[in-house]
Amino acid sequence: MECSEVVSLPKEERLKALSYPDVETGEIPEYLTCELDPHPYGEHVAQLLYMEKPNGSVLWLAWGGGIGMELRCLPVCERASPTEENSCWLPVRHRGGHSWEHYE
Ligand SMILES: [Zn+2]
Ligand SMILES: [Zn+2]
Repeated sequence: MECSEVVSLPKEERLKALSYPDVETGEIPEYLTCELDPHPYGEHVAQLLYMEKPNGSVLWLAWGGGIGMELRCLPVCERASPTEENSCWLPVRHRGGHSWEHYE
């Protein structure tokens, strides 16, 4: 199960993300969904775009939890699953379970 909180990305945040330094070109969907485990309070997080550098980093959107909206460049957690077939794609030091716990 995931948090599934949905947010619509305002145009100015979208432009900010697309012009962020070292970001890879890509598409940002109009609506973003929180990728964390369900959480009763605190910030929601969704992936926006991959970064060319630092290697393995991703540009994330964090929202809610009293911060409004914030773009963040953070590495991916990358913790391997017990079978080592999957690795976690959530931001490093994320709360809740690793992404593969939803299906492994
Ligand atoms: Zn959330
Ligand atoms: Zn993780």
